Amino acid sequence: MSTSTAWKNVSATTIDRVRETIRQLWGYDSFRPLQQEAIEAVLADRDTVVVLPTGGGKSLCFQAPACCREGLAVVVSPLISLMKDQVDALQTNGVAAAFYNSSLSTAERSTVIEAVRCDALKLLYLAPESLLNEHMLALLGSVPLSMFAIDEAHCISSWGHDFRPEYRGLRLLKQRFPEVAVHAYTATATERVRHDIAAQLALEEPEILVGSFDRPNLNYRVQRRTRGLEQMLEVIERHQNESGIVYCISRKEVERIAESLNTLGHSAVAYHAGLSDEERIGNQESFLEERINIVVATVAFGMGIDKSNVRFVVHWGMPKSLEAYQQESGRAGRDGLEADCCLFFGGNDYGTWTRLMASSGEANDAALEALQAMDRFCSSTSCRHQDLVRYFGQSIEQQQCGACDVCLDQIELVDDSLITAQKILSCVVRLEQMYGADYTSQVLAGSQDQRILEKQHDRLSTHGILSEFPKAAIRDWIEQLIGQECARKVGEYSQLEVTDLGWQVLRGEHTPRLLKPATRGGARGRPSAADPASWEGVDRGLFESLRDLRRELAGEQGVPAYIVFGDAALRDMARRRPSSLDSFLEVQGVGQKKCKDYGELFVKHIAEYCDAGGIATDVSAAPLPPRKPAEVSASAVAAFENFKAGESVAEAAKSLGRAESTVRGYLSQFLRHEQITDPTPWVDEATARRVRDAIEQVGGDRLKALFEYLNGEVSYDDIRIVASCLANATAG
Ligand code: ADP
Ligand code: ZN
Repeated sequence: MSTSTAWKNVSATTIDRVRETIRQLWGYDSFRPLQQEAIEAVLADRDTVVVLPTGGGKSLCFQAPACCREGLAVVVSPLISLMKDQVDALQTNGVAAAFYNSSLSTAERSTVIEAVRCDALKLLYLAPESLLNEHMLALLGSVPLSMFAIDEAHCISSWGHDFRPEYRGLRLLKQRFPEVAVHAYTATATERVRHDIAAQLALEEPEILVGSFDRPNLNYRVQRRTRGLEQMLEVIERHQNESGIVYCISRKEVERIAESLNTLGHSAVAYHAGLSDEERIGNQESFLEERINIVVATVAFGMGIDKSNVRFVVHWGMPKSLEAYQQESGRAGRDGLEADCCLFFGGNDYGTWTRLMASSGEANDAALEALQAMDRFCSSTSCRHQDLVRYFGQSIEQQQCGACDVCLDQIELVDDSLITAQKILSCVVRLEQMYGADYTSQVLAGSQDQRILEKQHDRLSTHGILSEFPKAAIRDWIEQLIGQECARKVGEYSQLEVTDLGWQVLRGEHTPRLLKPATRGGARGRPSAADPASWEGVDRGLFESLRDLRRELAGEQGVPAYIVFGDAALRDMARRRPSSLDSFLEVQGVGQKKCKDYGELFVKHIAEYCDAGGIATDVSAAPLPPRKPAEVSASAVAAFENFKAGESVAEAAKSLGRAESTVRGYLSQFLRHEQITDPTPWVDEATARRVRDAIEQVGGDRLKALFEYLNGEVSYDDIRIVASCLANATAG
């Protein structure tokens, strides 16, 4: 107890230094959850196991203290691509970091070794096999070390999803360097893996820090595939000019979808293990450098992709487990900004996976169990955020997450859930709880199957009681009832059994939620929640032009675009519009090095843009204002871009495929919401002047009087537009 107080006191002074370093080098002014605790443990030289979800900010937990401490931090990382990205990112922030692996030439290797020898580096990234080489161990034994950081530490555990035998050798570190602390970082949440990591690395009383697995900035939506590609396109079109990943189960599907997207005018490339190395690397780079927006891929894509501004992940087909889903969907929104995760599943996905697993020899009990859990997730009617974290043994407080289709009421439930559920459960009872879900749904659908006739189940009162529905829908409802614990599968043949809660349903004391069966053209998903506060005050045009500038720079330097600046930094620039280096430094995500390297260029660009458009610069650095009450409809927001680009009502109606009358409604929401004062993009100058004069004479709130004053020569629509702009001008 006393020792722990002692190190807390020591760290109380140094954590401030780390905080200052983070501000100066990274340009961040607050910690993400558990970062402070993780860094304090590093400062106290206490072994740690840190479990944070993808995008949780694990790297900073060792990178920042490494910069403040004496000696070298040795970072173990499984993938060459991952090392290079991290080292690039560190170097652009002005940190002395290097990696050492087989991709380097002999000369480059000697340079790195020399730098280690003369204590010129703060961080060195290595794969385990390079680290455990006797020469390397001897070298590291001869220089001061600040710590060992083991990234992707679950690779050491055979219980994890990515076991790498070479990680096992890392146990040696504690023997060879007993005085140096070892810190393990992973996003894999299960307790078994966590303990295995500590045991395999022989950590000494490690501090185990486990973050929340919820990713509140991700909007989850899960839908059955009913309308072909159209469903996917709705997502993609909502994210014009933004980066996204589309996951498919098979290579063939990847090729097909990538081709269709290109035909439809979306820039997409394919990525799967069947492509040549060259093609794969080329496609990956064009995604990272933002020359194309979309990667269509199998699960082969993503390990080692650190791109922070992926704005959507579409699953065109169900993944094989919730672990995989968490990982893959987790690649969206690593920068903490909102992102969409849309899963479109089909009735055949389950069968496709069992076939694939059988042919690759992976079809063990654990894999099938994981697949079933995934299947249940798809047909669940409870909060997606809650379902996901519960699977990982956690829970979230809120009843309403506000960021999933269930909580946002975007799923459609059958009107008479109770009666339908009662019909199903009573059939289970009539079948004496001795048959499985398939058989039961056949009976409910009124099948005349030989087996049913033989057993005389066609004589049951529940035979055909749901015959107006397709068998697949009935089958889904059974899974939904199991998911809501009204029934369960037992025994060798997964016979259905009614649970206590199920009996309550039969007595009418509890109503479960059942999804409306899929119909073509029905169940149209509304777009996710309106733009959140993170776009508040951001000049979108400026943001887009800053993205172009970033893309150019990234191309010139051959680094991924987000290494230059993340989306959050660009948004903050387009919000504050700094006109000097001092105010540029205030931007979130701009540290001193980046300010020095890019400041002048960006400030100049911003000044030119704002000058040309008459836009205010150095907007006060007020914290994000609270979200405005929803006075605009989500569908209207889509039209705002068109109006901002100066499109007329007719033009906007054409590009959006909506009626002009509808778009006029959007325009009035736009004028009010954006406080527009100039009506001339929509009403000609002379008419606008006439209406203004008229308002001076008769006032602006009586439209009919105005219309008559103007001899009926100006339409009501035009009068409304001018009056609205004038009201905005006088209010401002
Ligand atoms: P992980 O390794 O846990 O998946 P990263 O370390 O790659 O996550 O961090 C994800 C993103 O969050 C990166 O862009 C990183 O720079 C950013 N980040 C990390 N910590 C902070 C912080 N305290 N404030 C703002 N951004 C942060
Ligand atoms: Zn929810």
